[in-house]
Amino acid sequence: MDTFKLEQARSWILTAAAALEKNSALLCDLDAAIGDGDHGANMARGFSAVVKKMETNPPADIGALFKSVGMTLLSTVGGAAGPLYGGFFLELGKQTVGKQELDAAMLVSILEAGLADIKRRGKAELGDKTIVDALTPAIETMKGAGSDVAAATRAAAETARDAAVKTIPLLARKGRASYLGERSIGHQDPGATSTALLMESLAEVSAKA
Ligand code: ADP
Ligand code: MG
Repeated sequence: MDTFKLEQARSWILTAAAALEKNSALLCDLDAAIGDGDHGANMARGFSAVVKKMETNPPADIGALFKSVGMTLLSTVGGAAGPLYGGFFLELGKQTVGKQELDAAMLVSILEAGLADIKRRGKAELGDKTIVDALTPAIETMKGAGSDVAAATRAAAETARDAAVKTIPLLARKGRASYLGERSIGHQDPGATSTALLMESLAEVSAKA
C-alpha cells in the first residue's frame, strides 16, 4: 500500500477502540500492579466515546478525524494518559488539515510530531517507563522501513510490542508508577502496552488496503 487514506484512518480508530475494549482488563491489571488500575477502563471509555462521535459526525478529512479523536479523548479520559493521548491525536490533526491521504513518510512525520507533543506535555524521556518507550522505537523502525505503508506499519507494530515488554525491567520515573520507586521494576508499563495496541491496529488496517 502506497498511501494511508481517510478510510484507513477511520478504520484505525474503530479497530483501536475494539482492541482497547478487548484488552481493557489486561491494561487495568497492568495498571493495578504499578498504578491505580484504571488504564484499561480509561482507554476503553475514551475510545468508545470517540467511535460514537465519529458515527454521528463523520469527518470529511484525516485532519478533522484526528482533531475530533483528540478533543474527545481530552474531554472523556482523565488521568495521565487521557491528556497525553488526546494531545497526541490533536497534534496528528494539526499536521493533516484537509488531507485525504498520507504517504509513508508523512505518516512517520505526523507520528513524530505527536510523540514530540507527548514529550512536551509529559516531560518523559526514553527509559522512564511510559508511552514514550513504545512509541519512540516504533517510529524509528517505521522510518527505516521504506515507503510501503503496510510493511512499515507492520514493522512498527512489532517493535512497539517488543518495546512494551522491554519496559518490564525499567524503573518508572514519570506518572503514578514513579511513586513506587524500585517497586515499579518487574512490571510492564500499561501506557506502553496501550501504545503497542494502537500500533498493532494501525498495521492491521494498513494491511487490508
Ligand atoms: P493515571 O496514572 O493517572 O491513572 P492512566 O492509568 O490512564 O493514568 O495511565 C498510566 C500510563 O500513563 C502509564 O502507564 C504511562 O505509560 C503513562 N504516563 C504517565 N505519565 C506519563 C508521562 N509523563 N509521559 C508519558 N506517559 C506517561
Ligand atoms: Mg491509572
